[in-house]
Amino acid sequence: MKINWFKDGQARKTKLPMEGRIPSEPFEPERTSGLVSYPPPEQWDHWTEYESTAWPRKVEKTYSLVPTICFNCEAGCGLLAYIDQETLEIRKFEGNPYHPASRGRNCAKGPATIDQVQDPERLLYPLRRVGERGGGKWERVSWDDVLDDIGARIRQLLVEDRKTEIFYHVGRPGEDGYMDRVLPAWGIDGHNSHTNVCSAGARAGYAFWFGADRPSPDYANARFILMINAHLESGHYFNPYAQRIVEAKMGGAKVAVLDPRLSNTASNADYWVPTWPGSEGAVLLAMANIILQEGSFDAEFMRRWVNWAEFLREEHPDGPITFERFVDVIKAHYAQYTPELAEAESRVPAATIVELAREVAAAGSAFSAHIWRAAAAGNLGGWEVARALFFLNVLTGSVATPGGTAPNLWHKFVPIPHSRAPHPNVWNELSWPLEYPLAHHEMSFLLPHFLKEGRGKLGAYFTRVYNPVWTNPDGFSWMEVLKDESKIDLHACLTPTWSETAWFADYVLPMGHGPERHDTFSYETYAGQWLGFRQPVLRVLREKRGETFDFTYQANPGEVWEEGEFWIELSWRIDPDGSLGIRKYFESPYRPGEKLRIDEYYQWIFENSVPGLPEAAAAEGLTPLEYMRKYTAFEVKTDAYRDHEAALSSADLEGSRADPTTGLITTEQPAKPKEAKPAIGVTLDPNLRPIGVMVDGQPKAGFPTPSRKLEFYSPTLKGWGWPENAIPSYVRSHVHPGEIDASRNEFALVPTFRLPTLIHTRSGNSKYLNEISHSNPVWIHTSDAQRLGLGTGDLLKVSTEIGYYINRAWVTEGIMPGVVACSHHLGRWRLDEEQGMERWSSGLAEMTQEPSPTGEGSRYRLRYVHGVQPWKSDDPASEHVWWQDPGVHQNPIFPVHPDPISGQHAWHQKVTVEPAAPDDRYGDVVVDTGKSQQVYREWLALTRPAPGPDGTRRPFWLFRPYRPATDAYRVVGSGPPAKADSDPSTAGDSG
Ligand code: SF4
Repeated sequence: MKINWFKDGQARKTKLPMEGRIPSEPFEPERTSGLVSYPPPEQWDHWTEYESTAWPRKVEKTYSLVPTICFNCEAGCGLLAYIDQETLEIRKFEGNPYHPASRGRNCAKGPATIDQVQDPERLLYPLRRVGERGGGKWERVSWDDVLDDIGARIRQLLVEDRKTEIFYHVGRPGEDGYMDRVLPAWGIDGHNSHTNVCSAGARAGYAFWFGADRPSPDYANARFILMINAHLESGHYFNPYAQRIVEAKMGGAKVAVLDPRLSNTASNADYWVPTWPGSEGAVLLAMANIILQEGSFDAEFMRRWVNWAEFLREEHPDGPITFERFVDVIKAHYAQYTPELAEAESRVPAATIVELAREVAAAGSAFSAHIWRAAAAGNLGGWEVARALFFLNVLTGSVATPGGTAPNLWHKFVPIPHSRAPHPNVWNELSWPLEYPLAHHEMSFLLPHFLKEGRGKLGAYFTRVYNPVWTNPDGFSWMEVLKDESKIDLHACLTPTWSETAWFADYVLPMGHGPERHDTFSYETYAGQWLGFRQPVLRVLREKRGETFDFTYQANPGEVWEEGEFWIELSWRIDPDGSLGIRKYFESPYRPGEKLRIDEYYQWIFENSVPGLPEAAAAEGLTPLEYMRKYTAFEVKTDAYRDHEAALSSADLEGSRADPTTGLITTEQPAKPKEAKPAIGVTLDPNLRPIGVMVDGQPKAGFPTPSRKLEFYSPTLKGWGWPENAIPSYVRSHVHPGEIDASRNEFALVPTFRLPTLIHTRSGNSKYLNEISHSNPVWIHTSDAQRLGLGTGDLLKVSTEIGYYINRAWVTEGIMPGVVACSHHLGRWRLDEEQGMERWSSGLAEMTQEPSPTGEGSRYRLRYVHGVQPWKSDDPASEHVWWQDPGVHQNPIFPVHPDPISGQHAWHQKVTVEPAAPDDRYGDVVVDTGKSQQVYREWLALTRPAPGPDGTRRPFWLFRPYRPATDAYRVVGSGPPAKADSDPSTAGDSG
């Protein structure tokens, strides 16, 4: 419940929009008098309010309100576009109360969508480079020319069987399932993501436990919440999670945050626990030890759901296989993780660790915990931090319980489209190299290094809402390979905004922002499932008024396309006569042989793949598509708890058998076509499909792991060469205190956070967001600053193994002594005064290049010519830009640090900090890409390559987005081919 204040000054209680089940029980604000929180949907076609710019006059303005979905982070909150009925101009975005996750609320980045749409410098037409790549000369071309050229090139690559030369490299997907259709239909293994510079560490830690790769905390019902991240303020599910944590706090829950930095999240917590970067695993295992020794764990849950028997059989066969013995064994093992040891590693007082452990134990099944980037993305072995964190959930039995933490798949809904191609029988070693068989996603950030080593080349490379030159570690190595036409024949950059990477493209292709495109998607935000539907608001409104459009770009600004239509058109041009077998996947399910229209794609999904939606629509006299156009979100399931306890029916069990030792229930029946996520949980024997496990004599669904239990013990890790990591372990980080010599001014740098109002690349064109946040100084503790003679605002030099940057100091008590920190979301630059990046955010820079002393690569210096300046444009605000600071681009000075197991780039750095020299200038970035190639080879040497024990490239059961055919898993010469897997229903596990 919340309080609305009315004109008469009296507070009245009204229902929150999502208390009760919305939209099956629609939001009914009190409207008999006074104010309401949201315009009611029956007035969305004709909503009148006073025009703010006319104040103090009361001038009425009438709008059509069209809902859509925010695209500015992964949370996918609901937005309502306010479209002026006279001019058809979008005037603003506010929240959509009918969205089950965001419930009418947004963070600052949601309403800032208006800036992105109205940016006077936005890309509106396709551009083709003229002259050398990166030379900065462009010409406008027609979409037809673009599609014909790219289509012909891809057709040629396919006909010549150069399938591994086609890459689609995505930064922000913002959709579920669409590209899972496109790339397999082309018969390629060409998906590449940004995940290994982002979340692969956390994903791996969770995946080894429960098969799915994300945690889904039920924050709202938690009694104790533990976060190891700057999660809330870092823009990941910011708004949906934040509002539920606040609800939990209002209900008495306590919050603890482990973070070396006093983040905004930590500052609102009950416990800020500053830890030395990378020591979090020691703290968590010490907490586990306390819970074990004090006997405050949930023995019954663990007995039923942990693979303890497998652990004893494999590692301790010389005694009875009993749960009691298992407890004795792990008590003895984890006794080494004393609070005192954890204090020595982390600098957290032992007494605090004990107190936290008891809080966690007291919360019991209502313990919510979460880690995403942060420690899991910062450290060598960071994935073990996520694993240690979930160990606390397992010990307390807070797994998929009210207030606990569930596998994300149970809180996410991915509908099945009308057709999908079989898994292609091809394996791309440029993204899944043999050295990283357990990497949780593609080794995307090593692509420049692989290309430089001559492991392959690219014939057609798409970057899509992706800016590796600026975002990735060692971005200047990206610049080198993007410029090299012998390594990349064609680079097409699909992007809503200019970026540092677009500058090095052959085609810059404008794609829509959130309110200019269709997508469906779903993310775990609470203990339920929902489906969101992004839609192009101007097209939707104009079609409502009777206009017709063949393509969304005809209603969007300029010729801004939506990608869904782009891929259909491109696929038809690759295979115009259907002879390649591609075109059929892009034909209408309603008009056989005709080209698929984007609304038909979603119409079929809503009519056939979303349980309950057709009925809910019929109740309002709408078709399913009309219903989704009206609300843009549908809640598929509520109260999704304890899915692992689901009993298997006799129909499920038909033709199955249960292993008498393990209890594993397997079948040789193929997966049902509409099973959403069947590919996860397959066994090392691909011909037997596990469907559940016997627990206390009952057939249960279990977890999507090989044992169908929570894998405290991972036979996978042991079998693939990492026996020391077979159970949750503490890995010493590459920035462990033992690696840092303070007497030489060495520090651990934490670069894994961002400012809460920024969106990777795409906040560059938001004037409001840049006005709010435009500096990223280096946080340094007061004692360290005094030692170095630095005050706030002084220039300092931060050096890594491959280069340095010059930034300003921010002296604060909000960071651990010995640690420095810098947000990674600033430092935008352009090489041309008038194009190449948004002027709201970027400084004009010059780049110099000289040969590297290493004999390979180059030494670059990026230096600002000037910062952000006012300029004339169609938006009068551009002449009133008052800020000058574009921030400092820190990521290029980071060499690649691929974790040998998860594949995650370990972002934290050992750095040297010193006052800047007289000839250093603010924003200087100096990098030696020859040195970066050397560091790459040092980390590559840490790997233990495939084949695994069964002669494959990767464990069959482990999640792999865009899973290829089973045969493609086999390393050539490592044994007989596996049975072919042609089940298309297992395509598309993109997470
Ligand atoms: S949290 Fe903010 S940026 Fe993310 S989807 Fe919601 S409103 Fe948009």
